Amino acid sequence: MDLGIRGRNALVCGASKGLGRACAEALLREGVNVTIVARDAATLDATRAAMQDLAAANGASVQAVACDITTPEGRQQVLAACPAPDILVTNAGGPPPGDFRQFGLDDWRRAVENNMLTPIDLIKSTVDGMIARRFGRIINITSSSVKAPIRMLDLSGGARSGLTGFIAGIARETVMHNVTINNLLPGSFATDRLVGMIGKLAASQGKAPDDMLSASQQSIPARRFGDPDEFGAYCAFLCSAQAGYITGQNLLIDGGNYPGVF
Ligand code: NAP
Repeated sequence: MDLGIRGRNALVCGASKGLGRACAEALLREGVNVTIVARDAATLDATRAAMQDLAAANGASVQAVACDITTPEGRQQVLAACPAPDILVTNAGGPPPGDFRQFGLDDWRRAVENNMLTPIDLIKSTVDGMIARRFGRIINITSSSVKAPIRMLDLSGGARSGLTGFIAGIARETVMHNVTINNLLPGSFATDRLVGMIGKLAASQGKAPDDMLSASQQSIPARRFGDPDEFGAYCAFLCSAQAGYITGQNLLIDGGNYPGVF
């Protein structure tokens, strides 16, 4: 299926690894010119180099901007390199896990800054251009913790819920201009972050990381972690020309883990 976005420009944040990288690769496969962002310049450049062939094979380009997207200076740098994105994927590292009693107000402020205010500021800087061009697709990578709280991920669920509430309103104001805004909610995907978090949890409980990884997979109806490429493909579809009637949604991709009917 041709997603009808060949030649469009995408800004994909948090894209040197994991879910952001998979979204960038899925968009490149559709012939979208992609700007990828992450803080560690060496890892980011290696990712950009690894994407070059994919970009060339699909008549697209890939450029990289090394910066911290959660700072105003970082966002300025990124928007200077990609001033008029048609597609925006907001993403950055999630907040650290832990019991809420161990976090101070500065931890909460950082979580809100990274997982709520940064996406809002990026949307503010790009949405009016999308409206003027009558095409825009904004995807916020959030978390299944927005839909069903996950123990020890209070910072994530709390801060991301603020973003979710904001998106529910604005997504209904932009869709008449063919600009859609949706949140994509990952369950458990095999990325560095997930494996690292489970490793830390195992260490804190004196368990073997492999045992905990395996138990964690067995607890999911699909009996496995998600493949980041599955996430990327979903993201690319939501960015497609065909997805213009989907907006303001919180879309779970979690191997059936959320137990609710709705
Ligand atoms: P990951 O494998 O750790 O990748 C995160 C990417 O974001 C890396 O490229 C990282 O590169 C970049 N990044 C982090 N902070 C950044 C910043 N301040 N500015 C720019 N780039 C930044 O993580 P992931 O598993 O793909 O997770 C992506 C998001 O989904 C996170 O918010 C996470 O909480 C959420 N999530 C993931 C899962 C899962 O199962 N994987 C489940 C639920 C929610 P640098 O470190 O070099 O900047």
